[in-house]
Amino acid sequence: MHGLRRLAATDDVKPVLTWSLIRRVLGYARPYKFRLIGILLVITATSGLHLLNPLIFREMIDRTIPAGNLQRLVLLAVALLMVALSNGVLNVINRRLSSSVGEGVIYDLRVALYTHLQRMSLRFYTNTRVGELMSRLNNDVIGAQNAVSNTLVSIVSNIVQVVAVLAVMLALEWRLTLISLAIAPFFILIIRKLSNKLRDIVRNQLEANASMNAMMNETLNIGGVLLVKLFGRQQMEIERFGQRAGAVRNNGIKRTQLGSIFMAISGLLAAVGTALVYGLGGYFVIKDFISIGTVVAFSAYLGNLYGTIQSLANAPVDFASSIVSFERVFEVIDLPAEVSEKPGAVALNDVKGNISFDQVTFMYQAGDKSFLSDVHRYGSIDNVTAVLSDTEKEHDEDKRSQARENALEDVDFQVKAGQLVALVGPSGAGKTTLTYLIPRLYDPTSGSIRIDDIDIRDVTLESLTHQIGMVTQETHLFHDTIRTNLVYSKLDASEDEIEEACRAANIHDFIAELPDGYDTVVGERGYRLSGGEKQRLSIARVILKDPRILVLDEATSSLDSESEALIQDALKRVMKGRTSIVIAHRLSTILAADLILVIDRGHVVEHGTHSQLLELDGLYASLYNTQCRKSHQPGVTESADTL
Ligand code: ADP
Repeated sequence: MHGLRRLAATDDVKPVLTWSLIRRVLGYARPYKFRLIGILLVITATSGLHLLNPLIFREMIDRTIPAGNLQRLVLLAVALLMVALSNGVLNVINRRLSSSVGEGVIYDLRVALYTHLQRMSLRFYTNTRVGELMSRLNNDVIGAQNAVSNTLVSIVSNIVQVVAVLAVMLALEWRLTLISLAIAPFFILIIRKLSNKLRDIVRNQLEANASMNAMMNETLNIGGVLLVKLFGRQQMEIERFGQRAGAVRNNGIKRTQLGSIFMAISGLLAAVGTALVYGLGGYFVIKDFISIGTVVAFSAYLGNLYGTIQSLANAPVDFASSIVSFERVFEVIDLPAEVSEKPGAVALNDVKGNISFDQVTFMYQAGDKSFLSDVHRYGSIDNVTAVLSDTEKEHDEDKRSQARENALEDVDFQVKAGQLVALVGPSGAGKTTLTYLIPRLYDPTSGSIRIDDIDIRDVTLESLTHQIGMVTQETHLFHDTIRTNLVYSKLDASEDEIEEACRAANIHDFIAELPDGYDTVVGERGYRLSGGEKQRLSIARVILKDPRILVLDEATSSLDSESEALIQDALKRVMKGRTSIVIAHRLSTILAADLILVIDRGHVVEHGTHSQLLELDGLYASLYNTQCRKSHQPGVTESADTL
């Protein structure tokens, strides 16, 4: 694994073929060992058949034809046909077995990768390009299986074949055999030279492909398309894409070119070998050492031998190229899951809903260990950082800057079951981060979070998630029907339950009026619905889930007052009887809160109720005075009051 990090980090480091790596790769072959043995048997049988043909030719030329034995000639011709027929049948069996092994390995690797990716923390996804992952799930698993289903098989079967062909050749004519073998070292030398180059090209090609995929993923989705259109950057994106596609093209051409040079050279060498055999063989015939049939048979074996030596010499190259893919797959599989379940974690059942944060500190930067090494190398990430640091500089001069090392520091508070907690504070203060720690989207860097006095790191992730309902500002919907999106939170929800939840979320009437009702397909990420509708759907989804703890990020963007009222009304219903932690922007929510936590620069700087905090005359009072006074101007509705 270490090898790949280095490989990905610098261009000139070659993949290291260690025994432990090979053992690991072989581990993926193990479930298919019987089928692999079957393949080897079939290939050995095919090789045996290949050995027969030249002998039949020899028999025809040297004896049957000169003797004018028609009956024997017909028999031998039929034998040639039988050989071809058996070969065909064996090939079909071989293909069938190989594809079942090959596709099987692809399946195993894909599922292993996807399973691991499902366990990765949010931090990983905020630092990884989706396209990069797609690439590993698509191209690399295919490259990797090649190692198992083709290369391993071809190495073993070629060795068998070389030995068999050499044995027959030596038996036929040992002097000619030795002469034809004189070419072999040249073969091996040239193949070795080219193989290293080819491996580099293959690796570059995979990386170029990944980079192109990453870009397609980033720009060809609603968010990306919208951004490109709004800033009129189509031409720029086309050019960026052109560069990436160009790199894929160039590597493809190089790969083919190198392959053809290799073929040409090996063809030439084979020709030298054949010339030698015919020349010297012809001389032996003239001198009456051997028969014409032997020379013909010999040249047939020679083609076979050179072909096999070529594949054998090539095998390490193929294997090394596949290993690059294997390593790219292993790199993902070996990433630490970060937020993982303790062995022996217990289920969190019968939750009352008390929550306590105990000296919680959290830092986003976690070093490189949880990221893919490639992600730092593609795209215009550098430019983005430059823009961000510019704004940070501006902020530095501002004494209210939120820039800091720890997103949260020493956060300490208790919530009793059923209470409503409002989180308020400037943007970037750490409110969202705080809410993310409750369902363990991240784990605190230090300190602990307890639900009903149980550390959330001691319970199973599934049971924890089950107890927490989260309504975020951005509602993600799958490209599927409204019903499917709703029951995502409760797969066995009945029609009545769904409808009841939608009524409570004030969205039923809207859905009922749609032409297909609950079977209406919402577009990619729900872009066919308005913001308010999506949020109400996500509230309905949470109502169906019926969690004990509700985490809510109130919309900052102002919705029209009707939509706003519908959402507030729905939220009131969903919060009832549940512990609710709300990133509050509405004055009504803040006023209703049992506890307000004022967060600034990652610290809870004030806490209490509205009146207590006003009395304190600190940050809360100043936020309240500046922001709420503003919105108390005529024309702004009470419910849209923001803090
Ligand atoms: P709020 O919700 O109060 O606006 P956040 O919790 O979103 O604030 O952010 C708190 C701080 O953490 C900010 O300084 C922000 O830049 C930083 N931050 C948020 N998300 C990430 C992330 N994925 N990686 C690194 N830093 C982050």
